[in-house]
Amino acid sequence: MAHCEYLVVGGGVAADAAVRGIREVDAKARVDVLSAEDAPPYDRPPLSKALWRDHRMEGLFHHLDYGDLGVTLHLTTPVARVRPDAHEVVDGTGRSWTYRKLLLATGATPRPLPAAVAGREHALAYRTLDDYLALRRAVDEGARRILVAGGGFIGAELAAALSQAADAMKVTLLFPEPKLWSARLPDAMAAYLTRYYEERGVEVASGDEPRALEKLDGQGVRVRAASGREWVVDLVVAGVGVAPTDALARDAGIRVADGVVVDAFGKTSAPDVYACGDVASFPLGAAGESVRVEHEDHAHRHGRLVGRNMAGRDEPYMHIPMFYSDLFDLGFEAVGRLDSRLATYEDWVEPLRQGVVYYLDGSRRVAGVLLWNVWDRVDAARELLREGRAWPRDEELAGRIRG
Ligand SMILES: Cc1cc2nc3c(=O)[nH]c(=O)nc-3n(C[C@H](O)[C@H](O)[C@H](O)COP(=O)(O)OP(=O)(O)OC[C@H]3O[C@@H](n4cnc5c(N)ncnc54)[C@H](O)[C@@H]3O)c2cc1C
Repeated sequence: MAHCEYLVVGGGVAADAAVRGIREVDAKARVDVLSAEDAPPYDRPPLSKALWRDHRMEGLFHHLDYGDLGVTLHLTTPVARVRPDAHEVVDGTGRSWTYRKLLLATGATPRPLPAAVAGREHALAYRTLDDYLALRRAVDEGARRILVAGGGFIGAELAAALSQAADAMKVTLLFPEPKLWSARLPDAMAAYLTRYYEERGVEVASGDEPRALEKLDGQGVRVRAASGREWVVDLVVAGVGVAPTDALARDAGIRVADGVVVDAFGKTSAPDVYACGDVASFPLGAAGESVRVEHEDHAHRHGRLVGRNMAGRDEPYMHIPMFYSDLFDLGFEAVGRLDSRLATYEDWVEPLRQGVVYYLDGSRRVAGVLLWNVWDRVDAARELLREGRAWPRDEELAGRIRG
């Protein structure tokens, strides 16, 4: 049995940030990190972007100073059970670890294709460095026909990245919405984005979804869609969202509701147990509505703050997380809710190429801001969300952020 002052379960960026948060407050106490992965914490965003352009893996790992921090990282050490009453966790080998403070930073796990899809096990999941390496190997060995199922962040990014990964790539992006990101973007933007993909050689199969995946004797997979359309491809990748990896907490009797429920300080319903990052459901803003955020900026900021609180600080989480994406040479940063059902006001520098989209709630308060090829304006966008005032007329917002 090992006793740790601070025990961190998970080896992603939220765990990493928490370790640094703990060290900011407590320079000496024993800190142990138990990670299921075989690689030290790394950034996931390049797995669907830069790595496909430059192959440069070293940029992923900028968290290699655990020795200097006096923190012990135990790789390939999945935790099997948490026993909050005993202040104990048990890892996959049956080894027991006791703690004074425990952090669950177990992140999220890709959802499989729906159970109704026959042969869904033939689709690859995409989350980890190993997933990237497997897909990269397949492309290097000649896979050219790839179907990406799901048009969310990962699906759209991966389709763009794969289509540029080698000569003669033939990428199909299959998703149920009528246009790419029509749930997020105003209609004209979604139409523009869809065209943008098509002009760059991606086959956009919108308004459709997979029904069956059949592994072929020779090589490849036959995909049959709800519409009856069929494709024969080398590989299928599923990008249909993630679920919080919260089974450890649920099995331990810790309160879970779409993720591990925490208060503004990162505390769960169990004494001395905290959670942060993608796995945590936390109260956001003045309304205190419980949300889970699956973005890197949140994982960093929440992790750090919760780490500091574990070590004795009492700081509420007030940060408004930002998120971003790269789609070919289009890119954006955003805060708040991007929901095309909300009223929107588009303030263009150049129509559809560069500008700011404001999402307004029923009281015409700014609920979300999309900075479409507009950079370094995230703080101004956060300020508008924080202000919480109503904007009765669109024109009042003109030029407010884009400058
Ligand atoms: C391909 C890809 C691209 C992305 N791009 C962007 C982007 O452009 N912008 C953006 O804002 N966000 C992006 N994200 C999201 C961002 O990477 C995540 O929000 C972030 O990684 C969350 O960090 P986390 O540490 O909370 O969780 P994770 O990164 O999921 O880390 C959780 C860790 O816990 C470990 N673990 C789980 N269960 C156990 C257990 N029982 N015992 C021990 N260890 C366990 C896992 O193995 C993993 O190491 C992307 C994600 C992916 C996958």
